[in-house]
Amino acid sequence: ATMPPLLSAIANAGRHGVLVKSAVVMERLGQIDAVALDKTGTLTEGTPKVTDIRPLPASGLTEDALLRLAAAAEHPSEHPLARAVVDAARNRDLDLPPAEDFASAPGTGVTARVDGKKLAVGSPARLLDGRDDHPAAALAEQLESEGRTAVAVLVDGAPVGVLGIADRLRDEATTTVTALTALTGTAPVLVTGDNPRAAARLADEVGIADVRAGLLPQDKVAAVKELETAGRKVLVVGDGVNDAPALAAAHTGIAMGRAGSDLALETADAVVVRDELATIPAVVALSRRARRLVV
Ligand code: ADP
Ligand code: MG
Repeated sequence: ATMPPLLSAIANAGRHGVLVKSAVVMERLGQIDAVALDKTGTLTEGTPKVTDIRPLPASGLTEDALLRLAAAAEHPSEHPLARAVVDAARNRDLDLPPAEDFASAPGTGVTARVDGKKLAVGSPARLLDGRDDHPAAALAEQLESEGRTAVAVLVDGAPVGVLGIADRLRDEATTTVTALTALTGTAPVLVTGDNPRAAARLADEVGIADVRAGLLPQDKVAAVKELETAGRKVLVVGDGVNDAPALAAAHTGIAMGRAGSDLALETADAVVVRDELATIPAVVALSRRARRLVV
């Protein structure tokens, strides 16, 4: 028998390295007319590296001591920033004490008890909220204006230092944004939990004008709902636990497979298995062709 067009399209998508979970999804992909893209792990490679280790002088901590505490707290986390911090500690041969009472808050960071101290590691905007005049806030702002993601480290509630982390833009990020813009008639929207300064720099580089930064998972959902209320059928592309609610709320959700969290992979309608962003516009085009063949 000849394969029905949507099933052939699924097989074809598979050859492109995209796992489309059902014929319904294959069909819906061709209906999208707006795109919301996550930043870290989606437009960027998702293997960020620690570039700056800045203990505050008042903390009395060395670079290694700051990194060791942060890495110990981050160890249980699957977030790409957490992996960057742990890798940096490993590169310096620091041995990490165990983390107790670990908890993570998507879009914010992690907390844990390390060496009997209460550690908090994460977004300066959240962890230093209301302490704009603290030296740690100035340090974070400086790193962010250089395009870094700044990560604040707090011990027993007091800021002790900031880490700077940078991730490479994917080679195919700009061409993918251009292709999605051509397919939908509007440039994608950037929806990110990262800081506005780093987000704006990257958006500029890839040709995105609409930037929503500092978003929590529910804010990403609100951004999608806003577009859908305006009559758009939104494709969300993301990789993190923080993207899962938006992936679920969207008309269609695609997760980046390699760096993607299990929750994002399970929630999404399709998964980019081969880690090539450019396969996304290709699969949308495939769906549109298949739909024209379905009577
Ligand atoms: P994005 O939407 O760009 O993928 P996330 O929502 O995953 O970013 O993260 C947003 C922000 O939350 C990060 O830039 C960081 O400041 C903070 N954050 C989240 N998880 C962690 C973590 N495990 N360690 C440090 N910072 C974190
Ligand atoms: Mg992400």
